[in-house]
Amino acid sequence: MPQKFQNFINGKWVDAKSGRTFENRNPANWDEVVGIFPKSGKEDVDEAVKAARAAFEKWRLMPAPKRGDIMRKVGDLLVAHKEELAREMTREMGKVLLETRGDVQEGIDTAYYASSEGRRLFGHTVPSELPNKFAMAIRVPIGVAGIITPWNFPMAIPTWKIFPAILSGNTVVFKPATDTPKTATTLIEILMEAGIPEGVVNIVHGGGSEVGNAITSHPDVDLISFTGSTLVGKQISKSSSDTLKRVSLELGGKNAQIVMDDADLDLALDGVLWGAFGTTGQRCTATSRLILHEKIYDKFMTMLVDRTKKLRLGDGLLQSTDVGPCVNESQRKTVASYVEIGQQEGATLVAGGADANGDGLSKGWFYQPTIFSDVKPTMRIAKEEIFGPVLSVIRAKDVEESIRILNDTIYGLSSSIYTRDVNKAFVAIRDIKAGITYVNVPTIGAEAHLPFGGVKQTGNGHREGGWTVYDFFTEWKAVYVDYSGKLQRAQIDNY
Ligand code: NAP
Ligand code: MG
Repeated sequence: MPQKFQNFINGKWVDAKSGRTFENRNPANWDEVVGIFPKSGKEDVDEAVKAARAAFEKWRLMPAPKRGDIMRKVGDLLVAHKEELAREMTREMGKVLLETRGDVQEGIDTAYYASSEGRRLFGHTVPSELPNKFAMAIRVPIGVAGIITPWNFPMAIPTWKIFPAILSGNTVVFKPATDTPKTATTLIEILMEAGIPEGVVNIVHGGGSEVGNAITSHPDVDLISFTGSTLVGKQISKSSSDTLKRVSLELGGKNAQIVMDDADLDLALDGVLWGAFGTTGQRCTATSRLILHEKIYDKFMTMLVDRTKKLRLGDGLLQSTDVGPCVNESQRKTVASYVEIGQQEGATLVAGGADANGDGLSKGWFYQPTIFSDVKPTMRIAKEEIFGPVLSVIRAKDVEESIRILNDTIYGLSSSIYTRDVNKAFVAIRDIKAGITYVNVPTIGAEAHLPFGGVKQTGNGHREGGWTVYDFFTEWKAVYVDYSGKLQRAQIDNY
């Protein structure tokens, strides 16, 4: 019998009020049920928001360094459970152990960063224009934060949001993706074990249109932090606007790696293989386009196709596996449909292009690592996010044209250029329109203490990670203290 899990509301594990449930399956072996989870609705969200609102009044008053002490314990517990968490994550969403370990490590890094931020949360003091008057701006918590996350980083992304939210003094209602409820549940258990008081963090499992929408339109939720597709991000932008919430949207990408004719080609090859096929291409920062200088195009394509055909598909729990499955059936169908589109558009299929059904693969949502060459920048496979193991290769004549092609999408998350020419590297840093630019590094590999996010339709201008996420989860309050003992009028009495 598969294990049954519950929501966590106001410090108690509870079923959905409706009693409904959903299953979560292992994408590498769909016969294996990871667990049964509550299929919640608006009535469960209402309870969670009520609990979070009540808890906020106490939690906001705990000194931030004390909240930081709890975050340190959270980090220690994540370290202690790292291996077990990584295995559980691979079972529920398929990426290989090496990567799920990295996913947990990002949570650890974020916890320790938050812990130390408890002793900073810097504000500003500035001089007043009037004598005997003191002026400062301080950060204050905002209230109840609704947190909605995707399945591709089941630990890292929730921690990027929840840890700074609570360190800043807010309380949380968390809806994880329906494909990764188990990792989210373990995260809640760890937060409780570390000593987070009841009501401060609540989890409500269930679908986007029911639970997600109930959170984003709830009048008593002050903030929404969302990571997911651009399509859903636009819906959330609308559903949260009636109550004028502060909303952070981290959305899709169509990231490209440029390889110049002077690049170290072996290094660029390792980079693109990791960027395109790591996490089975299911990263917001995945390398979905490769832009090759025409002088090295043929040589590099031969190297790339050869190495891609050697990638080993399989269960991510096996040491021998390079590439795991797609997360679910519908994701694999999306990939297959884009491969069809690519062929109809006239691109040349040079690797993959079909489901993978070999030994040990027949009960998983596996798709062969796929490459299209001769892709034109105007084709749909060059413009739209596919979110699977498909790489579109485009030819360019110089750095300027490469950057023009790279920028020619509605997205702007990550980008990469391989070159040994420092002048070209700096032109790329200046002219690429993206939130992240890597030089001689693939499009994936963000570190937890730097700003993370994108431009254009990848988001709405906020940044996660590092110090920047604290700007989202706190409100500025300007404070004036006049100790002159008389009425002093700004802009008037001095001039
Ligand atoms: P998704 O379909 O947009 O779902 C993301 C989350 O939103 C899930 O928890 C989903 O619930 C929920 N949701 C769906 N409809 C909703 C609605 N109407 N109101 C509120 N919540 C709703 O994305 P995904 O397939 O999980 O993840 C892949 C996407 O995320 C890709 O586009 C990828 O680029 C993007 N992503 C972006 C970043 C970044 O930082 N920029 C990072 C990672 C991923 P269900 O699980 O129930 O559907
Ligand atoms: Mg699953």
